[in-house]
Amino acid sequence: MSDNPFLNDHGYGPQSAADRIYAVERFDLDECRAALDVPGLQKAVANKLHSRIRKLEWEAENLRHTELGQELRCTKCNDFWPDDKEFYFQAGGRSQQPCKACYALLPSRAARKAGAAARVQP
Ligand SMILES: [Zn+2]
Repeated sequence: MSDNPFLNDHGYGPQSAADRIYAVERFDLDECRAALDVPGLQKAVANKLHSRIRKLEWEAENLRHTELGQELRCTKCNDFWPDDKEFYFQAGGRSQQPCKACYALLPSRAARKAGAAARVQP
């Protein structure tokens, strides 16, 4: 293996920006960081690497894998909950923050509930 994560064991690898951007999708954090030092790296590829590094760092901090499946950290209560529709509202196939328990306690949500209750009163 060389220091250039784009190259395979035989020293061959993608050279064009488009092909390298495609390759970055499979890089882990160490490979992404090493790739930033590749001489003559295209700006678009560097941007893609920075974006993937941010994503991987976020996942390392906010996702964890248990024997029951993937769990996601809630941005509000900081607890990990199963990453599914029972614990998080879904949009576009992805869990939305915060978790359902925290969502119910949001001030905007509480105000709406209070408003609805007031309207029901005679
Ligand atoms: Zn929460």
